[in-house]
Amino acid sequence: MTFDDTPEQAAYRATARTWIADHMPAPIDAADAPIGSTEHLEHMRLWQRAKAEHGYACIAWPAAIGGGGGTPIQQAIFDQEEARAGLSSNYFMTGLKICLPPLLKHGSDAQRARFIAPAVRGDEIWCQLFSEPSNGSDLAAARTRAVRVGDGWRIDGQKVWNSNADRSDFGLLLARTDPDLVKHAGLTMFWIDMRAPGVDVRPLRQMNGGAEFNEVYLDGVMLRDDQRVGDIGEGWAVALTTLANERAALGGGTGPTWRDLLALARLVPSGDSVLADDPVFGQQLAGFYTEAESFRLLGLRMLSKLSRGEQPGPEASAAKLVWSNHVQALSAAAVELTGDYGMIDDPALAPLAAAFQARLMWAPGLRIGGGTDEILRNIIAERVLGLPADARADKGMAFRDIPQGTR
Ligand SMILES: Cc1cc2nc3c(=O)[nH]c(=O)nc-3n(C[C@H](O)[C@H](O)[C@H](O)COP(=O)(O)OP(=O)(O)OC[C@H]3O[C@@H](n4cnc5c(N)ncnc54)[C@H](O)[C@@H]3O)c2cc1C
Repeated sequence: MTFDDTPEQAAYRATARTWIADHMPAPIDAADAPIGSTEHLEHMRLWQRAKAEHGYACIAWPAAIGGGGGTPIQQAIFDQEEARAGLSSNYFMTGLKICLPPLLKHGSDAQRARFIAPAVRGDEIWCQLFSEPSNGSDLAAARTRAVRVGDGWRIDGQKVWNSNADRSDFGLLLARTDPDLVKHAGLTMFWIDMRAPGVDVRPLRQMNGGAEFNEVYLDGVMLRDDQRVGDIGEGWAVALTTLANERAALGGGTGPTWRDLLALARLVPSGDSVLADDPVFGQQLAGFYTEAESFRLLGLRMLSKLSRGEQPGPEASAAKLVWSNHVQALSAAAVELTGDYGMIDDPALAPLAAAFQARLMWAPGLRIGGGTDEILRNIIAERVLGLPADARADKGMAFRDIPQGTR
């Protein structure tokens, strides 16, 4: 099996690389526009728009609805070239890679016509409203209620950990429409306007100083029935489309690598030489290299599935598991080997502009969001290794009868 580009893929890569070099936004000063600021968002919005205008945003989606009319392989090649150029489109990722694929698959023609093109251009931002204070891994236990009122629905409940909800225009909301059914069957998916009356978004402060997540309170939010994505009771199937895309999107990406660790080790004195010459460090580096290769190869396996028109399966879970643990271990090693500098997170003072410090603070979240390590291991155990399924005490029970904790 060869992992090299075919001649057509190589030609596409060369064209994409040249286009990126010619059109990429000029670097912006982190002091004027730190990541997460409105200025930075607007800067990245220009990049998203440029990509959309040239058919490089959502390459594999039909051109008729705002995509690029290309193939998943072309999308993957463009993503690689974008990462190589140090660019990312994080503000738009939740919408384009997580919330809108279910709209493409389960939504109505009117929803696709209304929402896809503005999101592809970066004009509208989406957030995912799935997790709740009492359910994250057990997503199907969502308690937020959607109750029929006339022709529409009334929503009451609370969501949490919703990335970018405070800057989002729309949210994809999982709600319980029938508590008398078993938990997976009583769910329905909706889209909501994040500025509608009754939607209250409260940012949560993180240990790295940022506030990318939010709590979202939903208090009597009224929806029309055409805000439903998929059929009543089909919410779990829609959520599964979302989760498959989320894991595939999360397993890989930008950030410092083992090459940066080696570059750091070349700067750190050790005996008469530098740490890079130390055989014990060499062993550690070889371990990181092996992990990086394993998730690169898992990525290629997903690509070859996509090129056959298939959807990535449990390998997306495996790639995300290996990658997020790798990121944490690699960042911890880098911070440790730089000694006192490891404690400094000021990009102006720390080596490599504190890239590893920032990564280390972010890494625990990577191992939780989009499926925790334990949940991904359960998936691999059951679907790859064929081991017995996780025990489910609530199997076959109406949601309303599942015992809940009391205060
Ligand atoms: C970076 C990041 C971004 C996120 N973005 C969003 C977002 O945009 N929208 C959104 O809705 N949510 C988002 N989340 C929330 C995320 O989906 C949940 O945090 C995650 O699903 C875990 O749920 P929980 O926090 O409720 O933990 P819990 O499910 O309560 O888990 C607690 C612990 O128990 C373990 N555990 C639970 N069940 C099992 C089991 N069956 N077997 C073994 N161990 C188990 C877990 O692995 C974990 O260690 C985000 C989270 C992070 C960290």
